[in-house]
Amino acid sequence: MRARGVMGLALALAFPAAPVLAQAAPPVFDFATTPGRLPKNVVPLEYTIALTPDAASHTVAGTESIVLDFKAASAVIQFNSLNQKLSKVLLDGKPVRSVVSDDKAQLTTIKLARPAGPGRHTLSFAYAGKIEKEPRGLFLQEYVTPAGARDAMLTTQFEATDARRMFPCWDEPAFRAVFKLSVTVPAKWAVYSNMPESERSVKGALATTRFAPTPKMPTYLVEFSGGDLAHIAAESGGTQFRVVAVRGQEQGGQQALANAQQILADYNDYFGVRYPLPKLDSIAVPGGFSGAMENWGAITYNDQALLITPSSTMGNRQGVYSTQAHEMAHQWFGDLVTMGWWDELWLNESFASWMAARQTDLRNPSWRWWEHQDATKEDAMGADARATSHAIVQHVTNELQASSAFDPAITYSKGQAVLRMLEAHMGADNFRSGIRSYMKTHAYSNTLSGDLWQALDGAGAGQVSGIARAWTSQPGFPLVSVTASCDAAGERTIALTQQRFLLQGLGGGKGHWPVPLQVRSGTGAPKPVLFDGDRQSVPAGRCDEALSINAGALGYFRTAYDDATLARITQSFASVPEADRIALLDDQWALVAAGAQPLASYLALASAMGDTANQRAWEQITGALDTIETAERGTAGHAAFAAYARSIVKPLSVKLGWDARADESPGMQKLRRSLLADLGGWGDPDVLAEARKRFAAFAADRAAISADDQLMVLAIVARHATAAEFEQLHAIAKSARNETELRRYYTALMQVRDPALAEKAAAIALSDEIPKQADMARIGLVGVLGGEHPQLSWSVFTQNSERLIAPHQPFGPMILAQYTPEMFWRALPPEQLEAWIKGKVPADLLPNLARGMEVARFKLAEKAMLVKATDAYLAGKQARAD
Ligand SMILES: [Zn+2]
Repeated sequence: MRARGVMGLALALAFPAAPVLAQAAPPVFDFATTPGRLPKNVVPLEYTIALTPDAASHTVAGTESIVLDFKAASAVIQFNSLNQKLSKVLLDGKPVRSVVSDDKAQLTTIKLARPAGPGRHTLSFAYAGKIEKEPRGLFLQEYVTPAGARDAMLTTQFEATDARRMFPCWDEPAFRAVFKLSVTVPAKWAVYSNMPESERSVKGALATTRFAPTPKMPTYLVEFSGGDLAHIAAESGGTQFRVVAVRGQEQGGQQALANAQQILADYNDYFGVRYPLPKLDSIAVPGGFSGAMENWGAITYNDQALLITPSSTMGNRQGVYSTQAHEMAHQWFGDLVTMGWWDELWLNESFASWMAARQTDLRNPSWRWWEHQDATKEDAMGADARATSHAIVQHVTNELQASSAFDPAITYSKGQAVLRMLEAHMGADNFRSGIRSYMKTHAYSNTLSGDLWQALDGAGAGQVSGIARAWTSQPGFPLVSVTASCDAAGERTIALTQQRFLLQGLGGGKGHWPVPLQVRSGTGAPKPVLFDGDRQSVPAGRCDEALSINAGALGYFRTAYDDATLARITQSFASVPEADRIALLDDQWALVAAGAQPLASYLALASAMGDTANQRAWEQITGALDTIETAERGTAGHAAFAAYARSIVKPLSVKLGWDARADESPGMQKLRRSLLADLGGWGDPDVLAEARKRFAAFAADRAAISADDQLMVLAIVARHATAAEFEQLHAIAKSARNETELRRYYTALMQVRDPALAEKAAAIALSDEIPKQADMARIGLVGVLGGEHPQLSWSVFTQNSERLIAPHQPFGPMILAQYTPEMFWRALPPEQLEAWIKGKVPADLLPNLARGMEVARFKLAEKAMLVKATDAYLAGKQARAD
């Protein structure tokens, strides 16, 4: 481990072009120098917090007593607060000189009459605070029960910086402390927090519940939920598991309860440090936020991400498992060991994402989860191929930037892909032994990336910190170009070069990466090669065999093969191993988008698939064809392209038919649906007729179509709907028995193509037909509407933007700045789009807006390029046929 300095120097000499590698060894966590806004001279050790919330008035009365450690004498105590009024402020039982709470700075500053000496002191106060209506801090979540009754529950959402909305505190992740929470709420309510109840007393209509003290942890992991809730429970391996839901819905948690026990047992083994709390609750909140939050011992989920009902699809089940696996991985990566500051959020999110994918794949092999995750990796690479992309580790200076650090493409998905590549490079056992040592060394503490590199370097696979840092500290990724040469005996040598891959055009980007390759010739076993220079030559099998340098699609980079090699691969494409095929399709499509390869090269590969049934490869192809079809809408070439697209997918669709076979994998069933959905969308008369027949049966009997097939059939009918069919679809939507059905039916309804019916659909998306707990879904519905009606969707959005974004706080500013351009680039000229957004987002988010606008402008240019290239390709094809 001491060799890190030498390694850093060696890498610096090898890659003079990469300043990031020329730095000294990466820093490791040190409380005193960790970034943050609060002074480090007064540190909380233990909070005792008593809350009496009043849901009716949206207020909370609290008392707080905090044991503090003064590192040095100080006359000032400063901590975070927001929307609270403090009273009876005492230090060691004595009044203080002044108390100033500044909501704009989110700080309270207490001045003492004279400095307090080093050592322990107790700060105590009472306060009046606020219950939020949006998911930040302590908030009231309203919902409608299946029986139609209106009710509400209290719950919390603190990450990144909203614990301070419930109680004044040192609200930065490095300030770990013990929390002793008690709450006084209606006695008929059930209450949950990080730790089990230790005491309960009832006085009249109210009950006070005290929870056991937590381990030392950051504020953002504190949790409280209360309401008319109920749970199911199980015990295994010494841990108590509960799934909590609105009373009457808790049985929907049976699958989640079983999953949780399986996942925790696997993680206890993997991490080598057992889950340290006595219980683990999984709490289903009806709405509130879109995913889930890893509060230690009390994970909260949007109920759609946790509960399974007879209305759930296989996709819902997969989502539940993988979301649980993600949040439970955080019980180690995030809760037991926490990033020192928000710069290093990836230590939480990339790891939880990677671990969840690994676990989901391990326990559900028929789901082929890593292939499924290729789509996620492609999203990351799409975002990371922009000139405005950012590194995995990014500097954060304030609260708004902390919330905006939760960038799904880079912080989650790129991080996951890079970790997978690193694991493959090190070997899974070595990687795990590094992780075990990291967990053991840093339990109940905080870390920086440097701490992790140190652990991995010591794991027995040699020095990897230089490789890891190159991928986490600079934006983007390389395009590896391959030029093959053959000797007289037919043996192949490949010459490799690299440059940053940018969609706006190659040649302008900076950056240099040590790239772990997996080189496969033919169908043999792949050979690992580290490509760490500017140029490198590698033997690569025989010239008459197909080639992949990204075998297994384990790498996070793109590959461009020379023409002869690509022709060789295309020729034997149907027999190339599946993951290699996926990587090649992804790369070839990206090269077309970047203008580095002709569209024909990609379409040749797609046509070479024949009726080879590989779900992810086809998903990639239909995604590309969808992009072209959308580009062609409204142009003279649309009909010809739609016919061509149908001809590519129809043979396989006919082979797969309409109905699932008992022995089929979930992926094959999904493939069948996606091919039918596309054929329906592209106007295939046979598919439309069959969909209408099935829809009629479904309208009469809701059991006529399986939950998994419903969206596909309903969406095909919606696209071509007559006024009568639209009314029928709307009646079905209104009859939804739960939110799972509701989201499905309304999503179908929004796909209507007829402009007058689309106006009706827009009004429905905003109406009270959609209950409070599904508020978050509205923005997505408006987005789906935009698929066929971009201008209508934009006008609905601009007239209702605050209402549509409010349920997504605290991520609203990031959604507005970065994702609205991606949603609405087809609706209006980019300058106008940019000007509208600019008027609504704070200056801190201008880099996010720049990212969003780069995407919007790129998509406009891509649309023009695709229409031209497609029309020329089809004209040429026609000419060849004539
Ligand atoms: Zn997470």
